[in-house]
Amino acid sequence: MYVKLHPDFSESPAAKEAADIVQSCVHCGFCNATCPTYQDRFDERDGPRGRIYLIKNMLESGQASDVARTHLDRCLTCRACETTCPSGVQYGRLADIGREMVDEIGERSFSQRIVRRLIRWVFPYSSRIRVLLGLGRFFSPVLPQALRRDIPPRQNLDQRPDVPTLADRKMVALQGCVQSAATPRTNHAAQRVLQRLGIDLIEAKAAGCCGAVSYHLGAADEGLDFMRRNIDAWWPLVEEGAEAIITTASGCGVIVKDYGELLKSDPDYAVKALRISELAKDLSEVLDKEDLSAFTDVADKSRTAVHCPCTLTHGQKLGGSLQRVLGKVGIPMTKTTEDHLCCGSAGTYSLLQPDMSQRLLKRKLKALSIDDPEQIVTANIGCQLHLGTQSEVPVKHWIELLDPAKSS
Ligand code: SF4
Ligand code: SF4
Repeated sequence: MYVKLHPDFSESPAAKEAADIVQSCVHCGFCNATCPTYQDRFDERDGPRGRIYLIKNMLESGQASDVARTHLDRCLTCRACETTCPSGVQYGRLADIGREMVDEIGERSFSQRIVRRLIRWVFPYSSRIRVLLGLGRFFSPVLPQALRRDIPPRQNLDQRPDVPTLADRKMVALQGCVQSAATPRTNHAAQRVLQRLGIDLIEAKAAGCCGAVSYHLGAADEGLDFMRRNIDAWWPLVEEGAEAIITTASGCGVIVKDYGELLKSDPDYAVKALRISELAKDLSEVLDKEDLSAFTDVADKSRTAVHCPCTLTHGQKLGGSLQRVLGKVGIPMTKTTEDHLCCGSAGTYSLLQPDMSQRLLKRKLKALSIDDPEQIVTANIGCQLHLGTQSEVPVKHWIELLDPAKSS
């Protein structure tokens, strides 16, 4: 479909990029079949094709309507539509540009701006999350049941990872923000598992949030600053020969793999960002290529349902990598349905769109539970915590099943 850019956007590279993406859509509507929000509401404007039209109108009129904002806000950015689209429309990138544009040319309500600012003030900082979690756990006995469920229990970390072995092979772990505060066991387990394979997993203390929280909340410049900070922290380790930048949260992984694209116009960071993106690997991607026979005896053999996050399946195009790794070490996996469906976590979505998020959560848990699993595993902190609020069985990061030093 042809886009006639409004004169206000004639000098905007982002608007031109958005117009090119819109023009690649042939409006066949196949994407609606796998879009969770369209499947929930059956409103064309809550599907990818409808949202593409809303962005097209914005590019042509130079105006952002409340209707466009509402329906773009309801999008999970799960990118299931990209996997389904026969024309290769880069919907995720378009949604990011569209959201930033909505906030630039039209003003959000005061309350929405405050909530978004608060989220950006808390979530990218593990120290602030730790304080919040500490308060939540302390006051938990007097909180209503619905709120209590949202506070993840403190993890037992008695068995610390061994000190680095000074192995020949080294990889760098992104410690991230929410995960390092809420489920620190994940990276400890990854460190122990890789150590058994002769790989030291090291962290750069100055690195932190991957930038996704700010970037997806329409604060692109703030997100890009987090990315530059991480690149500066990792670069000396890359120069010392680190083989990979490992992400154990697929939501972070998808954006680290995009650093090269997002910083391509920054003359100081473009080359380094591209190198970081080339080195970025999800943990399952790394283990998929290793000999895992040493783990068949130690692996947790409980009946396990696997939730492969959207950011792994659709964002990183690594659908099946989790199941392959778990299959190699003999973990019995239960049947599941609706594997393409988002669990409703989607970064900050569960906070900003709680009704839709809860409906998707219930539907996802039903799909994961049809074969009576004893536990559920996933590869993203957001999914893990979100599923954990309502699941009747424990929800873990999958690497815990291979951990030679399992904590309770
Ligand atoms: S499937 Fe692709 S080409 Fe078809 S309407 Fe959706 S985004 Fe457009
Ligand atoms: S990203 Fe997900 S929620 Fe958004 S339009 Fe695509 S399929 Fe629908």
